[in-house]
Amino acid sequence: MLNKLFAQLDGYYEEMVSIRRYMHQHPELSFQEFNTAEFIQSYYKKLEIEVKGNVGGNGVIAKIYGKKPGKTVALRADFDALPIQDEKDVPYKSLVPGVMHACGHDGHTATLLILAKTLNELREELEGTYVFIHQHAEEYAPGGAASMIEAGCLDSVDVIFGTHLWASEPTGTIQYRSGPIMAAADRFEIEIQGQGGHGAQPHKTKDAIVTASQLVLNLQQIVSRKVNPVEAAVVTVASFTAPNAFNVIADKAKLIGTVRTFNEDIRQFIEEEMERIIHGTCYAAHCTYRFDFVRGYPAVVNHPKETEFLIICAQEIEEVKTIEETEPQMGGEDFAYYLEKIPGTFFYTGAKPHGVETAYPHHHPKFDIDEKAMLIAAKTLGTAAINIHKKS
Ligand code: MN
Repeated sequence: MLNKLFAQLDGYYEEMVSIRRYMHQHPELSFQEFNTAEFIQSYYKKLEIEVKGNVGGNGVIAKIYGKKPGKTVALRADFDALPIQDEKDVPYKSLVPGVMHACGHDGHTATLLILAKTLNELREELEGTYVFIHQHAEEYAPGGAASMIEAGCLDSVDVIFGTHLWASEPTGTIQYRSGPIMAAADRFEIEIQGQGGHGAQPHKTKDAIVTASQLVLNLQQIVSRKVNPVEAAVVTVASFTAPNAFNVIADKAKLIGTVRTFNEDIRQFIEEEMERIIHGTCYAAHCTYRFDFVRGYPAVVNHPKETEFLIICAQEIEEVKTIEETEPQMGGEDFAYYLEKIPGTFFYTGAKPHGVETAYPHHHPKFDIDEKAMLIAAKTLGTAAINIHKKS
C-alpha cells in the first residue's frame, strides 16, 4: 500500500512543483486569501472530491472516504503569505509587490493537494476518513485555526498531523518533539503618560522617557529573577517610541514587545508580574499608564503517543535520512489550537535549498525551499494517515 502511495506521489512531483510555484507567484496576506481559497476549492472540485469553503473565514476542508470504516484523520496545511517584498531572482518570484510566501505555506498547500489527489485515487483500498484542512491566516493572530475549529473542522476527527517545511535543516531530515515544540506568542503594549514640559525645567514635569527607560530594565527582572531558570521564557521590549525634540521633556512614551512561554502558568505569571512592575515603576515616577497584554497563539504541545507513531512512519520513507528530536523553539504556530482539542503531532520537514551552506531564514525576503522536501512531507503525512488505522 505504501509503495503504491509513494510511487504515485513521485509521479505527481512535477504537478506539485507547479502548484507551489503558481502559489508563490500569487501570494495573499492573512485574512485576504480569497483567490487562494478559490484555487484550492476548484482543485478539489475538478477531482470530484467533497470540498467546503468559507470554513471559519477563508478556510477550506476536503474529505475523502475510504472503502472500509475506520478512524478519521486530519492533515493540515496553511496557505497565507507575508507582507514582505520578494527579493529572489527566480522565475517563480512573487508577482505581487510587497507580498511573498516567505514561510513555505505555498509548499504546504501543494503537498496537501497532491497527497489528497493520491489518496483519492487509492480510496478503494483505504480505511477510515481523511480530512484535509486548508487553513487560512496562520501568520497573523488570532489566526485561522481557532475559527476553523469553531466552524467544525475537527468534528468527529480522531487525530491530526501537520508539518512545517523547515529551511534551516537539510532535505531528508524529519524533526519531532513530544511535548512543547513551539511557544505561546503574546504581544504587549505599554503607554506611559507623564507630564511634558520644557527640557530645561525637569522639576516641573513627569518625564515619560525616564520612566519608560526604567521600565525596560525592570521588566528584565521577570525572566532573570522571577521565573525558575529551568523553565523557558522571553520578555522582549521590541520598540520604544516617544516624541523627539531636543528641548522637550516627553509627555508620553510607548513600549511594544513580545512574551514567549511554553507553560500556561508561567504565561499567566509573567502577565501579572508585568502589571506589578509597570504599576510600581509608574507610581514611583508619578506617571500613569495603559497596559495591554494581547494573547496570541498558545504553545504547540505535541502528544507523546502520536509523536512516537510519527517517528515510526518516517522510517518508512527512503528519502528520510535523519530522524531527530528537535529543541523547542520560541516561534509561534496556531497548530496549537488543534492539539488542544485532539491528539496529534506537528513536525518539521527539512527543506534547505540545495547547495547552500546556510539557508535564508523563514520570513526573509530571499527565503526559499528545496521543493523536493514537499515530496518527503507528502510521503510522511500520507504514511501517518494510512498507518494510523493499523494502530492498536
Ligand atoms: Mn509558517
